[in-house]
Amino acid sequence: MEIKGLLFDKDGTLLEFHQMWLKVSQGVVSALSHEYRNEMAHQQITEQHLLEAIGIYGDYVDNHGLLASNPVEDTAQAWFEMLALQTELKAFSIEIKALFNQQVEDNPLLIQALPGVKDKLIKLKQMGYKLGIATADTKAATLFSLAQAELLELFDYLGYSDGDITPKPDPALLNGFCQQCELSPEQVVMFGDTVSDMEFGTNAGAHKVGVLTGTATLDELQPYTDVILSSVADFEPELLAR
Ligand SMILES: [Mg+2]
Repeated sequence: MEIKGLLFDKDGTLLEFHQMWLKVSQGVVSALSHEYRNEMAHQQITEQHLLEAIGIYGDYVDNHGLLASNPVEDTAQAWFEMLALQTELKAFSIEIKALFNQQVEDNPLLIQALPGVKDKLIKLKQMGYKLGIATADTKAATLFSLAQAELLELFDYLGYSDGDITPKPDPALLNGFCQQCELSPEQVVMFGDTVSDMEFGTNAGAHKVGVLTGTATLDELQPYTDVILSSVADFEPELLAR
């Protein structure tokens, strides 16, 4: 079946991931350790423990960690349990979401499209493909970061995870893209930098292209993809033709 829609993960697939999220996460944890210093002392937790809990080890970001693969609610829940807070998880989750959004907005220069990606998306759009986003990021951060990277107006569909839709790898976001653009899953290619993105494509019945611009290695991604590329910038539709 002919490919008509291209759905992209955002961070590590279209946007530079490491620098930005490392700095943003460090900023969030620093703010947290200020506000919850008593709880941290009581639970004998350091900033390093909080970072490691979401998959950050020094400058290394674990592909399977909460930061790389999960929505921010999962990070909030992990920290909530570590701090043994007696407050409401929901309120804490909102606070964490706001802290991440604030850090992203405070560091706009860290947000950049990966090399060659913008030109490639413009070309694909001119060829008539519908373009969509499927991210585990929040609505506010998604809109802000895509606008900052000057990509926002290229997309026909924006799928984010703001607690109102089941996140990847559940197929809900891909189904949303299909609905909005009148496509069937077999007409869609999912592009992503994580195993979770590829599982998402599989669960929805779409084609899958893995890219190595994010956190996963070739060996990690290959078993789950139809095609693997160094970058979205290298994609040519003929690659999926049989
Ligand atoms: Mg990603």
